[in-house]
Amino acid sequence: MKPYPNRFVAALTAACTVFFVFTSASGAAPSQWWKGNLHTHTLWSDGDDYPEMVTAWYKSNGYDFLALSDHNVLSAGQRWSDIAKNKGGDAAFRKYLDRFGESWVEQKHEEGKHLVRLKPLGEYRHLFEEPNRFLMIESEEITDAYQDAPVHINATNLRHFIKPQGGGSVLEVMQNNVNAVLRQRRETGQPMVAHLNHPNFVWGVTAEELMRVQGERFFEVYNGHPAVHNEGDATHAGTDRMWDIILTWRLAILNMEPIFGLGVDDSHNYHTQSSDLSNSGRGWIMVRAAHLTPEHIIKAMEAGDFYATSGVRLKDFKRELNRLTIEIDPEDGVSYKTLFIGTRKGFNQTSEPILGNDGKPLRVTHRYSDEIGMVLAEQTGLSASYPMRGDEIYVRAKIVSSKLKQNPYLKGEYETAWVQPFIPNE
Ligand SMILES: [Zn+2]
Ligand SMILES: [Zn+2]
Repeated sequence: MKPYPNRFVAALTAACTVFFVFTSASGAAPSQWWKGNLHTHTLWSDGDDYPEMVTAWYKSNGYDFLALSDHNVLSAGQRWSDIAKNKGGDAAFRKYLDRFGESWVEQKHEEGKHLVRLKPLGEYRHLFEEPNRFLMIESEEITDAYQDAPVHINATNLRHFIKPQGGGSVLEVMQNNVNAVLRQRRETGQPMVAHLNHPNFVWGVTAEELMRVQGERFFEVYNGHPAVHNEGDATHAGTDRMWDIILTWRLAILNMEPIFGLGVDDSHNYHTQSSDLSNSGRGWIMVRAAHLTPEHIIKAMEAGDFYATSGVRLKDFKRELNRLTIEIDPEDGVSYKTLFIGTRKGFNQTSEPILGNDGKPLRVTHRYSDEIGMVLAEQTGLSASYPMRGDEIYVRAKIVSSKLKQNPYLKGEYETAWVQPFIPNE
């Protein structure tokens, strides 16, 4: 196997430091798990509720941090919205007025229209933020496309608006937008990250394209929007499968950093609960950090010290010497199965395109050997442990519970968690 890039070794070292702090610090704040959602919409773009209403829901439902990521806009400056025409309509406005009152809600009548002012993040965050309890992070869903393929990339903790950068292919559009985020990070000195949204939305992005994006460290393995096809279909790889293909190629062949998996809501609909709608509470991340600040959250994410989940909670995951261990935070009456998934060195590298009815290759993720993303071990119970054999390129854990998810993204879905891949040191 090729050596890892130095910066990834540095990230692993950082992760080990976090474990050290967690167990033995004196005078330092202990690390803890913070719950957050990085992908959410409001009336600033195509969500159907006011940002304060959306934020209030997340804060009162146990979240510690939230990024409202509207399409191609930062919630800033003056924006008046026509209540009769916006996605929330009169019903959302009444709930907003009831909850926040005349002293907060700004409204006016102009040319026969009833207008309400959408509050910028810089104004309403003060109603919600509390040190080590609730944090808001600036965000934008950079919403781009190549021909009919949507390419959406979230920029988390950015400082300035980024307009979609375009490009001559899906790969180039992704790369140009990621580069724009990294450029702003360099220019401002402010930590910020890009993540690829819902690769299977309109089957926009293939594993072969995503694996080649330089500087892309995250993608959505689980997105709660009903139109995003996390599970794939007969022609298209699901996001779990894409992740294994991408990890294997980046680590073993392309000499690139791993990509980590996120869980997000991508919520737009706040007034009716249904699996046909994109509601809140479906997917999130749990990040282990000593402080609830954007910088600490991002640092932990870049070190892989977090997991994605649609309900399963973990007490701990760690790597000690050559053993990976998972400790589940159980719920009464629920059972758990942990799958350790990975690819071994010497794997079969052949792949073939999937052909359409006309015999021509489709622009979809290729079909690969079963040696990529194999289930290396499967265990039941509240803890699971995997001894590294030494020939693994990476090993990741997926924990599937026996608990059916309420108001699921997909009917019959069980609550699940996805732990970031462990990569052996060389
Ligand atoms: Zn999107
Ligand atoms: Zn979205």
